Amino acid sequence: MRTVDEHLQLILSEIGQLEPIELTLLDAQGLLLAENVVSAVSLPGFDNSAMDGYAVRAVDTVHATREEPLTLPVVGDVVAGARAQSGMGPGLAMRIMTGAPIPAGADAVIRLEDTDGGVARVAIHRPAQSGDNVRRMGEDLQAGQPALGAGAALGPQQLALLAAIGRDRVMVRPRPRVIVLSTGSELVEVGTPPGFGEVSDANSYLVAAAARDAGADAYRVGIVPDDHTRLLDALESQLLRADILVTTGGVSMGAFDVVKQALSEVGTVEFTQIAMQPGKPQGFGHLGEDKVPIFCLPGNPVSALVSFEAFVRPAIRRLLGKRQIHRATVQAIALETVRSPAGKRQYRRGVLHREASGGYSVSFVVGDGSHLIASMASSNCLVLIDEEVTEVVAGARVTVMPLLLSHR
Ligand code: AMP
Ligand code: MG
Repeated sequence: MRTVDEHLQLILSEIGQLEPIELTLLDAQGLLLAENVVSAVSLPGFDNSAMDGYAVRAVDTVHATREEPLTLPVVGDVVAGARAQSGMGPGLAMRIMTGAPIPAGADAVIRLEDTDGGVARVAIHRPAQSGDNVRRMGEDLQAGQPALGAGAALGPQQLALLAAIGRDRVMVRPRPRVIVLSTGSELVEVGTPPGFGEVSDANSYLVAAAARDAGADAYRVGIVPDDHTRLLDALESQLLRADILVTTGGVSMGAFDVVKQALSEVGTVEFTQIAMQPGKPQGFGHLGEDKVPIFCLPGNPVSALVSFEAFVRPAIRRLLGKRQIHRATVQAIALETVRSPAGKRQYRRGVLHREASGGYSVSFVVGDGSHLIASMASSNCLVLIDEEVTEVVAGARVTVMPLLLSHR
């Protein structure tokens, strides 16, 4: 049997790159820049005031003190948004607002608090140095300088910079489009009351939500019955818009495990047993002319989640260009004793707690059957128990993967 790590390596070695696309700033949030952005403008774009106060020539103010204020005539107001630069002669002052352009002839701003706030004349209580309270054109970024490099992650700060330099669209690595199909003749669409023997399709929500959480755009195609032709038709019809296809169900040994049968014949998808629990049967390969990667996950919801976390999520992160394709893990103290099969990596559902001491502890959810959806929903992490470990005793350290929401 192939190990989880070997299978993941194989998958990642076959995951390519997506063509960059141009997006508006908010659509680009969370993505990686695919171009070097050079600023066409300087930031600030003009010398302007850092304070509300009075624009002056610093040399005029050298003798100003609180006891013996210097009084200057105020020859006008400069507001933020003033379209033309004003000017003033020596021995004069202008009232100025934060962000307003420094008048020609002035080289400093006296804070309002250091004056009497006068309108026609102003009494100044302390001297200014040249440059005081002046934000210099280009002090943050000069026109012609690089603003952001290819590969930069676009968070709020970077989007603010792009907006500040007048870029409303940028080239980015796109979100992969993940197409999600549930297979199984027992499945009914959510909202249709299941008859005897029928089951509501939970997996397409599980996988679509997990794909979006990983940073992809997800599309639920819905349910395909266990029928050779209908499965291949459904997959075929989605190829054009898919960057990744994910199916659940139909990959075990059963006589009606149609995904495995139908796709094995196509010849470009391999079905393997992976040394993991749950999630042993896995299919991975490519479909169509464009060789769209396809993941065929087992149908039990817990197996689907674990398989997604082990294989699909890292592939999505790789396609996004992320350096960190794996979820962060933490070490925690197991609160109960559990057994684990020899030779398989076990993924248990757990509840991670923060201890008052600062460390973590983890308890296990009730029941380890991979059909237990309610028990899965009560967990907030997966506990990873290595292949060679057969028992974790209460008090031992374990590796835990918190399933934190990414907020994309
Ligand atoms: P399979 O992998 O097709 O043999 O399915 C294994 C188990 O998972 C069966 O009990 C299925 O009914 C169940 N199952 C398969 N697909 C889904 C789904 N989309 N939603 C909920 N349960 C499912
Ligand atoms: Mg099935």
